[in-house]
Amino acid sequence: MSESDLRPERPVRPGEPLIEVSGLKKHYGGDGVFAGPPVKAVDGVSFTVKRGETLGLVGESGCGKSTLGRTLIRLERATDGEVLFDGEDITTLSGRDLHKWRKNAQMVFQDPQSSLDDRMTVGEIVREPLDAHGWGTDNDRKTRVLDLIQDVGLQDEHYYRYPAQFSGGQRQRIGIARALALEPEFMVLDEPVSALDVSVQAKIISLLERLQDEFDLTYLFIAHDLSVVRHITDRVAVMYLGKVMELGETEELFSNPSNPYTQSLLSAIPVPDPTAGDHRITLPGSPPSPRDPPTGCQFSTRCPAKIRPEGYDLSEDVWDAIERFREIVRERSRIDLGVPDLVKRRVGLFSRYDDIDHTLEDLFADLDLPPEVEEIIDGAANRVKAGRPSEARKHLSSAFNSVCDDKRPDFHEVSGSGRQSYCHRHGREYEDVGPVIERRTK
Ligand code: SF4
Repeated sequence: MSESDLRPERPVRPGEPLIEVSGLKKHYGGDGVFAGPPVKAVDGVSFTVKRGETLGLVGESGCGKSTLGRTLIRLERATDGEVLFDGEDITTLSGRDLHKWRKNAQMVFQDPQSSLDDRMTVGEIVREPLDAHGWGTDNDRKTRVLDLIQDVGLQDEHYYRYPAQFSGGQRQRIGIARALALEPEFMVLDEPVSALDVSVQAKIISLLERLQDEFDLTYLFIAHDLSVVRHITDRVAVMYLGKVMELGETEELFSNPSNPYTQSLLSAIPVPDPTAGDHRITLPGSPPSPRDPPTGCQFSTRCPAKIRPEGYDLSEDVWDAIERFREIVRERSRIDLGVPDLVKRRVGLFSRYDDIDHTLEDLFADLDLPPEVEEIIDGAANRVKAGRPSEARKHLSSAFNSVCDDKRPDFHEVSGSGRQSYCHRHGREYEDVGPVIERRTK
């Protein structure tokens, strides 16, 4: 195939896999003797994107969605794992092979204000990928750019204008035209409407839907607006801390989420019926650092449905306080002390851990703790005060860890339609450990 060819004609077989992702990881840093642990932005995800579908990718900001999207189209190099695009592993491509492959997959960025070069005309922006791939003659390129400009709802006279002369919605249309220039099969749409007014959002969404039908496109649609995701996607993957927690058909997943994280994420969608009460699940604490994710389930430090260890009969309030205390100790154990602080610690003058007493007071003063639990908490606090937070962390882990802390869950099929959820609670051995989720409303 010559470099100037666009997508070759072939029968489209909707529903068959276009992209097969297996054990994909993207870590940053961590190299070198003095480097800290790597940031695990994407930490072992596996899924398939079917030809012709729109797969949504949702989750809190910082969960790795954009990094995953960029890694799928080789804007980032994978740390480990495989991405089969039409059967070819693109993680190993380099040089000319990678350059040739790039026309298969493009990206539309979130911010139409900053993603276009204000010094170039619309014609030059949309033509840039064609130039980079040496596509056709000058005349061919101009004709193609004019076609694309019309495809996205702009007019011929816009060819010589500059991005600053356009509104946000029109700029996003320019970005979409550029992404379409090489007739990609796959497009990563990274929050493509979140920077736009609501009325403009609807127009861009219907443009994307029309273009998908017209050009047989497959989309990965990354967004935090769950109502937009519900409207436009066929299936949804829910991400937390670099991991896909649940994946399935959109309507089924939205109406009956199986994973505790999906349940809490979806509980934030406002309910139209004012008499229905507030079912929002408020997650305690904040997500752990991707440099130091939990050893077991990524959601274990905040999960309202966490399986508790055997041998304790504690209220959920007490468990919450214990989890928050563990979170604080975990943070302390990650403090990097400079040389002066290390010297002070040696001679007993280091005081950064003194306020642990206030923490205990805040968390446990109003709670009734059984003596054996109090002893464990005090033992950890004393280790922190002695400047040994890592020991305190281990002490708490050995007392309070459950399967959720110790072991990565498997993916379990949770419906006949192939929906999958990453949670120990779907395993037969934990089926009868209690309600799937403790609803905690504001
Ligand atoms: S494995 Fe445990 S912590 Fe993770 S989602 Fe399931 S219940 Fe929650």
